[in-house]
Amino acid sequence: MIADTIRQIETELAGRAQLIAVTKTKPVELLREAYEAGCRMFGENKVQEMAEKQPQLPADVAWHLIGHLQTNKVKYIAPFVALIHSVDSLKLLQEINKQAAKQNRVIDCLLQIYIADEETKFGLSADEAEGLINDPTLENLLSIRIVGLMGLATNTDNEEQIRAEFRGLKQLYDKLGAIEGANLNFSELSMGMSGDYRIAVDEGSTLVRVGSAIFGSRT
Ligand SMILES: *Cc1c(COP(=O)(O)O)cnc(C)c1O
Repeated sequence: MIADTIRQIETELAGRAQLIAVTKTKPVELLREAYEAGCRMFGENKVQEMAEKQPQLPADVAWHLIGHLQTNKVKYIAPFVALIHSVDSLKLLQEINKQAAKQNRVIDCLLQIYIADEETKFGLSADEAEGLINDPTLENLLSIRIVGLMGLATNTDNEEQIRAEFRGLKQLYDKLGAIEGANLNFSELSMGMSGDYRIAVDEGSTLVRVGSAIFGSRT
């Protein structure tokens, strides 16, 4: 039962982090079931899929884009997206700013940081993220707000490695969060998925992105 699993995870989180139900590839009926069980935050990794599902759910759902975002697709989610977790360049941030301004919105963003010991994951290095935060052109982007960082740990059974990766991301979050700027307002650290959210919350996550533990494996 989806509702039981959601309740169990919420109990485990005990208010330390918020649960984003990752619903990629899942049909709208399952999203409605999660909504009925109290979920108000949904995570999708593809722009088109999110834009198709959004009008089919109640308006108080907060839609989180957690997958790689191409600049030419920002316009499709700019009217409604609550938080973009996957910003990995100044160019993308400039496009989000442009599309947000067209909608008279300010769009909240996280910088995706590369923390895993894998070659396939997107994201900025710690140095690149610091460079972006300190870029003088950033302060012109008044229709975006950088509210924190996101990262994916290595897909491994080695809990100590996962913990070390999350701990490093938390340290970077604390460091960059101390930098002041008109559109900087660090309050969210998005880390932890089905296999590692307990470790992530121990290490300071504020947003966990959980899919298969709630909805079953994706085919
Ligand atoms: C798919 C996905 C998740 C959820 O993964 P599960 O292992 O199913 O919980 C979390 N974060 C990102 C970025 C994803 O793409």
